[in-house]
Amino acid sequence: MDFDYTPEQEQLRDAVRALGRRYGHAYFVGQAKAGKHTTELWAEAGRLGYIGVSVPTEYGGGGGGITELALVAEELAAAGCPLLLLVVSPAIAGTILARHGTDEQRKRYLPGIASGAEKAVFAITEPEAGSNFHRLTTTARRDGDGWLLTGRKCFISGVDEAQHVLVVARTEVSGKLRPALFLVPTDAPGLTRTKLEMEIVSPENQWLVYFDDVALPAGALIGGEPEAGLPALFAGLNPERITVAAMGVGTARYALDRAGSYASSRNVWGRPIGTHQGVAHPLAHAAIQVELARLMIAKAAALYDAGRDLEAGVAANLAKYASSEAATLAVDTAIQVHGGNGMTTEYGVATLLGGVRAGRIAPVSREMILNFVAQHLLGQEKSY
Ligand SMILES: Cc1cc2nc3c(=O)[nH]c(=O)nc-3n(C[C@H](O)[C@H](O)[C@H](O)COP(=O)(O)OP(=O)(O)OC[C@H]3O[C@@H](n4cnc5c(N)ncnc54)[C@H](O)[C@@H]3O)c2cc1C
Repeated sequence: MDFDYTPEQEQLRDAVRALGRRYGHAYFVGQAKAGKHTTELWAEAGRLGYIGVSVPTEYGGGGGGITELALVAEELAAAGCPLLLLVVSPAIAGTILARHGTDEQRKRYLPGIASGAEKAVFAITEPEAGSNFHRLTTTARRDGDGWLLTGRKCFISGVDEAQHVLVVARTEVSGKLRPALFLVPTDAPGLTRTKLEMEIVSPENQWLVYFDDVALPAGALIGGEPEAGLPALFAGLNPERITVAAMGVGTARYALDRAGSYASSRNVWGRPIGTHQGVAHPLAHAAIQVELARLMIAKAAALYDAGRDLEAGVAANLAKYASSEAATLAVDTAIQVHGGNGMTTEYGVATLLGGVRAGRIAPVSREMILNFVAQHLLGQEKSY
């Protein structure tokens, strides 16, 4: 058993950290409040090879794994810049295309995803179906050689800044409606969107997306045949959970770092507040939870990169659960340690709250992970 990152991975971590710190949380919040995106940071991260770190080298990527992409997601978040689109574009869409795209699809889409010049977002959630993906109703029906896509999706992150959206739809396979994946241009006629107003301070927004008989060529179907849909979809879930978890612990580290500095410098009873165990112990407790989550993320990423998908699936669920609980605790504790300043704009910790809180709901809720663990690890009967 080896708990060390390689020298290359350490270098990557240091370099990403330096980039993130040049922008910082004030930049992230400033862009969000001005209704702008993190365009400059994204472009620079793309140029430096961080966005495409896990894309195969033959398509312009770094040839690393999800371990490397998780490092990038964690370090940017630890610098106060949690970039959700890292999760959807390189982690989900990049992995699905690399593993299940046709040759043509890989050549067409992966270089843009790797360089960051193009973004592909991901649309599975529907208003009526919620966590129950068996109830998806967005449907693609045959239209000559191509397809006509109809339906609606909700909470779709970043569709306004993406060139493509990877849509989970149903198609008829052997008389049954089965999930299939389509890569849809975001400017396709018939695709419209409405912004969802969210209580999250983030330059990346969520959208309702409508597909009204969107005409797609045969080449839009991932893997070239409807049957490729289910394995392709599963290929994206573990990278999604692992990178979301990495972003969560990065945010938690940022919050604890701010709280630690504040606790050792704020003096109200003749000594720094950090000398009171009532202040220091909650911070220490949160730090332990964060470190445990980081360990599980590293395990999940290592299993995934070793091609051990089933074991990686269990570990990715545990990592995502542990990270979102730890991150929520860490941010809440950091706010408490700051007292009234915790709620001010100047101290920049309450701005993290919405993001980490959403991490307990998306991309898979804590309850659905508890269901998974109860059923698959503890042998309990499915209750729903
Ligand atoms: C910030 C943000 C970004 C997102 N980005 C995207 C995106 O880019 N693309 C995308 O497709 N989706 C995205 N989502 C959607 C997200 O994946 C869903 O919100 C999530 O899967 C939960 O689905 P739901 O909101 O419909 O909740 P519901 O399924 O309605 O669940 C509501 C509550 O009931 C609980 N619950 C439901 N069923 C059970 C059960 N069987 N047992 C116990 N408890 C249960 C849930 O845990 C939850 O607490 C995003 C969401 C957020 C908040």
